[in-house]
Parts: sequence; structure tokens; C-alpha cells
Amino acid sequence: MTDTASQTETRPEREAMEYDVVIVGAGPAGLSAAIRLKQLDPEISVVVLEKGSEVGAHILSGAVLDPCGLDRLLPNWREMGAPITVPVRDDRFYMLGESGSMRLPNAIMPPLMNNHGNYIVSMGNVCRWMAEKAEELGVEVFPGMSCSEIVWGEDGRVAGVVAGEFGKNPDGTPGPGYEPGMELLGKYVFLGEGVRGSLSKQVIERFALGEGREPQKYGLGMKEIWEIDPAKHSEGRVVHTMGWPLEKNAGGGSFIYHLDNNQVYVGFVVHLGYANPYLRPYQEFQRFKHHPMVAELLKGGKRVAYGARAITEGGWQSLPKTAFPGGALLGCSAGMVNVPRIKGNHNAMLSGIHAAEAAYEAMSSGRAGDVLESYDTAVREGAIGKDLKKVRNVKPLWSRYGLTASLALGGFDMWTNTLGFSLLGTLGHGKTDAEATEPAKDHAEIAYPKPDGVLSFDRLTNVSFSGTNHEESQPCHLKLKDPKVPIGHNLPVYAEPAQRYCPAGVYEVVEKEGGPEFVINFQNCVHCKTCDIKDPSQNIVWTVPQGGDGPNYPNM
Ligand SMILES: Cc1cc2nc3c(=O)[nH]c(=O)nc-3n(C[C@H](O)[C@H](O)[C@H](O)COP(=O)(O)OP(=O)(O)OC[C@H]3O[C@@H](n4cnc5c(N)ncnc54)[C@H](O)[C@@H]3O)c2cc1C
Ligand code: SF4
Repeated sequence: MTDTASQTETRPEREAMEYDVVIVGAGPAGLSAAIRLKQLDPEISVVVLEKGSEVGAHILSGAVLDPCGLDRLLPNWREMGAPITVPVRDDRFYMLGESGSMRLPNAIMPPLMNNHGNYIVSMGNVCRWMAEKAEELGVEVFPGMSCSEIVWGEDGRVAGVVAGEFGKNPDGTPGPGYEPGMELLGKYVFLGEGVRGSLSKQVIERFALGEGREPQKYGLGMKEIWEIDPAKHSEGRVVHTMGWPLEKNAGGGSFIYHLDNNQVYVGFVVHLGYANPYLRPYQEFQRFKHHPMVAELLKGGKRVAYGARAITEGGWQSLPKTAFPGGALLGCSAGMVNVPRIKGNHNAMLSGIHAAEAAYEAMSSGRAGDVLESYDTAVREGAIGKDLKKVRNVKPLWSRYGLTASLALGGFDMWTNTLGFSLLGTLGHGKTDAEATEPAKDHAEIAYPKPDGVLSFDRLTNVSFSGTNHEESQPCHLKLKDPKVPIGHNLPVYAEPAQRYCPAGVYEVVEKEGGPEFVINFQNCVHCKTCDIKDPSQNIVWTVPQGGDGPNYPNM
């Protein structure tokens, strides 16, 4: 199983530091695990490594937070100055047509869709606050530290990670100020990288954690923060829409959350299982803002931030085994989003708590580096499993039968699941999102309106509102397994969809004298992971750039 020997030979000399638990990713999952470990035993040594320039810089969520995870972790959070101050007061669902809208009565929504008791938050700010709480307990939190490699133990287990490698030349050789980084070794290593984690992907593959499960499914979420006319702002209002502009081309929908200070989060999710390679998720989002209902809200306002991130959508049937030799997959590294609720933060926090409790129990009895089976059981049989299981058929019904039929059938199934049974059993997802892409010859191009610069913007202008920056003298972090595939195969067969699905305009096909050329503007990458997911040839591998690079989201 292990190729440790050959890896050791090619690895540069690195210092090593030992901890009880090493945590990759300062998201809600990783930080909850860190806090819980210290609550259980202040002597346990814990390090959290985060690739963003600061905690929160790479966090993008909706977000309406169900506080059930935080209630377990820090029951007094209301008295602790948490940036969670806007309760949901008004919950609305609309079905959109091109120029009209129909509000769905709240009464027909299954109870689990109700947002009463939830809060509109910036998860970036919640994570910044959680990191402070973790540090007060003695956790070492290191932002600006990309974890680029797994350190495999002699016995094949995950023994640690390499973090903090800086200063490579574009060709990968050490540059003048090269720093080889460090090996951070742990009795247990928790991967809390969020959706499509680059190390998690390797671990899932190596230990076949997804065997016997459905493939993971994803959506691409794009989000803008707007400051709007105070007269139109309604603090605590939550709006979700479905239908136009996606209609039959793809599944997905929008969210509009009114937080405080006259700000609204305007977001749009496109399910990545779409077939037509000509679809442009970003332009669907921009088009959506021209719907009369949305345009009226935003008119006179200004967009102050932009970002994008994939979201896991496979749910219960796609959840891999979450424990492996030496560690655990937390939160969306495994995929714990409740799709109809568009919520995963509560499950991310609960998973962190469960993983910490399992590791504490193991270390207390002298164990290290084994499989935390009790964590996997807690995820499956506890609150997370129950949350995901109830809604497991919504996504496959939507993919198979489209929006209208799935609303009726999915709604019915959620109602019966709330009562404790399902007439549908567990439906599968079938294809991966990459496999779902069909040849261009079977589809028509889609004409998108030009952005007007007022409500809608082109990709590069919007990327400048994400604070994204990558040091240009490093190797491109978007690796092609075979550099010939984009032009040799993807272009003739799929009209090279990377040009269209990337929400930051990173990929271009440029006409040159000798023929078309595939260009990767990696500096603009907002780390959404869509290319790693959707490339029909699975030829693009997203790897971490050097630490601190990427977006710098304010309060996403
Ligand atoms: C558009 C959108 C809207 C959403 N809306 C909601 C909502 O309203 N409510 C809700 O509850 N959920 C929502 N979700 C889902 C929710 O955001 C996720 O479930 C949640 O973020 C998962 O938490 P996590 O800790 O697992 O991962 P993340 O929050 O993604 O955190 C992972 C962290 O790890 C870091 N990292 C990753 N890889 C490495 C590495 N190799 N080295 C170092 N650091 C690394 C990342 O930079 C990041 O900071 C939404 C998601 C999206 C995309
Ligand atoms: S290059 Fe890939 S990860 Fe980066 S923004 Fe584009 S699709 Fe997302």
C-alpha cells in the first residue's frame, strides 16, 4: 500500500514537529475539532494549518447558520461576543419565470426547511472568532500555511503533512529564497479542507474510502456582497429562488440573505451535473440579477465583494468512510451538506466535535495512528447521519426528473422521511459531474447578454473584488496530467468547457499562429475547485499554491 521509501528519497530535508493532533483547514470543521480537543484535555497539543493569508480569507458560505453545532461546542456563545447577531425573521421561497415570480406558501414546506432559530452570518467572521477562541485555549493556529503533501508513515498510515513550502521557481526547482517547509506529525491528522480537498482526495483514493458509495456530487456557488438602499433592506430576511434562468439547462437556484448594515448576500448555485458544455454558470448568475424582482432590490446599490466555491451535494449516499489509518475526514472534506437546506456548517462543526471526542478517547487509552472507527459511527448514526438521510433523495430526484417533478416528489419524500419512512428507498446519483458533461455536437451554444457594469459584471472585474493574489514566480498550481488533452481532446469533443465553467476566467483557449493554445491564468484562481471536479477528462488537478495566496475574502 505504501511507497514511503521512494517518497522519502525524493523529499527535501525538512524539520519535523510533533503534535498530538494536526488539523488541516481552519474552517468550521477544523476549528470545532481544535476547540473540543482542548476542552477535553488542555494538555493535548493541537495545531491548525490554514492556506489563507488569515483565518476566514478563504471561507465562502451562504450563510444561514443552524446553531445546533455551536450550541454543543460553546453553549454560551451568545454571551461570548460571537459575530452571530442577525436572527432569521422572514423566510421566503420563490419560483421564478423570466419576468414573473410565484411565492410558495411556507406551509407546504417540510418542517426541516424552516429557518426559524437560525442566523444570517458571515462564516468568514465566525471562523475568525472561533480561531480566537481556539487560541485562547492554547491551540496553535497558523494561517498562510498550505499543506501540500501527506507524510505517510512506515506502516502506510497518515502520519502528518508537509506545510509551508515557499519559493519554488515556475519549473518547480528551488528558487533563491526557497523554504522547504516543515513536516507536522500527529498521533492523528484531521483533514478539514472543505469541498474537494486536495489532500483528502488522495487519502480517499488511497484507502478506497468511497468504495461501495455513490460518487460525490457538487454545485458551484458564486456569491456577491451588495450594499443596498436602506429603504429596501429588511434585516433577517432570507429568500431562495428556483427556476429562471437555469430552467432545463441545469439544476440550482439562488439565495438572497439580508444581513445587517444594509448589506445583502446575493448568491447562485449551479449543480455541476449539467450536460451542455456551452453552459456558463457565472453568466447564469449575472443574468439572474436582471430578473425584475432582484434588479429592483439591487438598483441603486453597489457590489462590494465577489467570490466562488464549490459545494458538496452528494449527501448521505456519497458520504465516504470518514476514518482512515491515522486520521479523519471532517466536514465537507467528506461532504456533509444537507442539499435542500443548503446547509453544511452545522454538520461540519458536529463532525469536528465527534472527531475530537474519538481521538481523545483513543489517546487516553494509549492508542495512536489507528482508524477512529467510533468517529465514523458517530457521523453515520448521530445527528449528521440523521440530517443527511432525511433528504437523501432530493438531489437524485432533481437530477433525474427536473425541478417541477422533483419539487413534488422530493417534497413528499422529505415529508415522509420526517415521519420516519421513505417510499423511494435510497436513490443513486449515477454519474460523476465530469462524466455528465456531453459532447458539444449534441448541444447548442447559449447566448448570454453582455454584463451592463451596473447589476452584472464580467468575470475579471468581479475577480478584482475577491482580493485574489498569487505570487507569479511560483509553479502553476493547476496541474494538467497530460498537457495535450485540453486542445487535443477537450476542444474538439467538448468545446473545452474550462473556458466557461471557471468562475474566475482562469482558462482560455487563445488562437495563435500555430493553432489554438490553452492558457492558464492561475493568478486569478479563487480556489473554488470546479476545474478539478468538472473537467470531462479529469485531467486538471488542483493543488495548493504557496501559503497566503488566493482570495482574501472580507466577510464572505
Ligand atoms: C455558495 C455556498 C453557500 C452555502 N450556504 C450555506 C449556508 O447558508 N448554511 C450552511 O450551513 N452551509 C452553507 N454552505 C456549505 C458550507 O459552507 C460548508 O458545508 C462548510 O463550509 C464546510 O465547512 P468545512 O470546515 O468542512 O470546510 P471549509 O469551510 O471549506 O473550510 C476549509 C478550510 O480549509 C482550508 N484548506 C483547504 N485545503 C487546505 C490545505 N491543503 N492546506 C491548508 N488549508 C487548507 C481552506 O482554505 C478553508 O479555510 C454553503 C456553501 C457554499 C459554497
Ligand atoms: S481555476 Fe479552477 S479552482 Fe480556480 S477559480 Fe477556476 S475553476 Fe475554480
